[in-house]
Amino acid sequence: MTVPRKELLYRMLLGEKQRILAQIKASMEAGVEADVRMGFEVTQDNADKSIDELEKHIAAQITGVRSEMVDLIDDALNRLNEGTYGLCDDCGEEIPVERLMILPFVSRCVRCQEQADRLKKIEQEHVIEPPSENTYEDELLEE
Ligand SMILES: [Zn+2]
Repeated sequence: MTVPRKELLYRMLLGEKQRILAQIKASMEAGVEADVRMGFEVTQDNADKSIDELEKHIAAQITGVRSEMVDLIDDALNRLNEGTYGLCDDCGEEIPVERLMILPFVSRCVRCQEQADRLKKIEQEHVIEPPSENTYEDELLEE
């Protein structure tokens, strides 16, 4: 028996969401000592700030990033209900479940992604030389 695509994706997204929520919970419970030590530089400016205050600030930032992930997943779940999640932005084909399992927020199928990457590479290889001083002056004169 095969599980329908929608159900597979639903389970995958929910699993991902639970994983992130668990991380948020864990980091709140464990505190953020290690992160504080890494990011904390004593300067005159913040010397009067208590470590506690700083810890809270950093914890909020870390939690913020993870909350954004949760928002992304909620958004994906909504789109899944509407039937628009997991479709390629370029060709509109369904992105294979296996690919979404690895990259839940990918917006293109492998073929279109490769094409987009190739185009990007060509663009980068043909980056025009920085404008010369003359061009810059011309632009200024035009204003
Ligand atoms: Zn595509």
